[in-house]
Amino acid sequence: MDDNRQQQYQEALSRMVRMETVSDPDGNNDMDKFNRFHELLKELFPNIHNACKIKEFDGSLLLRWKGTGSDKLPVLFMNHHDVVPAGEDGWKYPPFSGEIAEGKIWGRGTLDDKGGLWAMLQAADELAAEGFVPERDIYFESACTEETTAHGADMISQWLKDNGVRFEMVFDEGGAILHEPIGGAKGTFAMVGVGEKSIVNLKFTARSRGGHASTPGKNTPLVRLGKFMAYVDKHQVFEVKLAPAITEMLMQFAPYMGRLGKVVEKADKLSPLLEAALPKLGATANALVTTTIAFTMAGGGETVNVIPMEAWVIGDMRCSHHQGKEGSIAAITRAAKKFDIEVSVLDSGYESGITDYNGSAFSLVKEAVRETFPDVDACAPYIVTGASDARYFDRVCDQCIRFMPFKISDQQMESIHGINECLDLDTLIPAVDYYRYMMTHA
Ligand SMILES: [Zn+2]
Repeated sequence: MDDNRQQQYQEALSRMVRMETVSDPDGNNDMDKFNRFHELLKELFPNIHNACKIKEFDGSLLLRWKGTGSDKLPVLFMNHHDVVPAGEDGWKYPPFSGEIAEGKIWGRGTLDDKGGLWAMLQAADELAAEGFVPERDIYFESACTEETTAHGADMISQWLKDNGVRFEMVFDEGGAILHEPIGGAKGTFAMVGVGEKSIVNLKFTARSRGGHASTPGKNTPLVRLGKFMAYVDKHQVFEVKLAPAITEMLMQFAPYMGRLGKVVEKADKLSPLLEAALPKLGATANALVTTTIAFTMAGGGETVNVIPMEAWVIGDMRCSHHQGKEGSIAAITRAAKKFDIEVSVLDSGYESGITDYNGSAFSLVKEAVRETFPDVDACAPYIVTGASDARYFDRVCDQCIRFMPFKISDQQMESIHGINECLDLDTLIPAVDYYRYMMTHA
């Protein structure tokens, strides 16, 4: 029986991966491509399509599975169906081959996020075929713009709001099941995102009157930018704070951390100590407790023997909840001023709320993980450092969870938006069981 399931599951996901659904960065999606993908979904999951009312928003989908009637607020499950581009270079198997080899299924979107979409719809389709009807309404959302403009999630959540629909819980992609998620935490943990950092893109400009390279003065624009970046690299420009969700995460890790665990298990009482220590434990630990900035692009100067009148760098800033967007912009602006650098905001993302890790949504995930992934040691809340469509659903829900029920390795984690994206075949059945549990117990 399980052999049949396994075979059927991997073939379905492989077909979804083989259909290239790269979204257009400017929002001009090729609708034929997405329509063909929707047809494939209907073919693979006919029962849930028959059971639901379906509404399309410029290629993004919203399905409503009507419940038997209950005064409980509905629940939403979401996973997007667009993917980021992939060149052929460096891939063991072509990115849109959906190749099944080495105990894995390979290709762009296996993890981000067709794997999640497949598992969610597969579970729902099986339940519908068995005649199951949920008690309360279950909605499914799948956008075709998650990797680009987020237009689909924005439009759908606004439409729901305008139509008076509120959810008790929303479940999107996000964290996964990881072994040793931070150095020293020697266990297997379901990393369950309860919020996400907001993203701000900034331009830093240094100006001068120019001049000839033969008689340079001090502190020319490129030098000032260099000093500024070195300063930000060395100093703690942003506030460090252990948020309650991160404290709780550390408490979950503590029993698996050996002697260090004895300190970490008192995280709630020792926050000043941990706030001092965590930024030194590497990039991942640092990103958990503070706003970060990465300098990603630079320019200035066009001629080798002329001092530029203007030089610039661009920074990708991910803001902590405790300092927020405004506070983080103010902090980096103070640092820039020291070097006579102007700051402008290029793009400023949505700020997400934080879901209560003692609430009904987190508890349901915990139960479902315990039932379907028995070798997971604990569920740990954390704050996602990348942006997901879930942030738009704060409009219609107080509990937006970001988690995909797959066991993944460090290599697989890095393959998201990179090369050799793949998913282990033996994580497919538990993933469907997880969603079945979620839908039948919600
Ligand atoms: Zn994604």
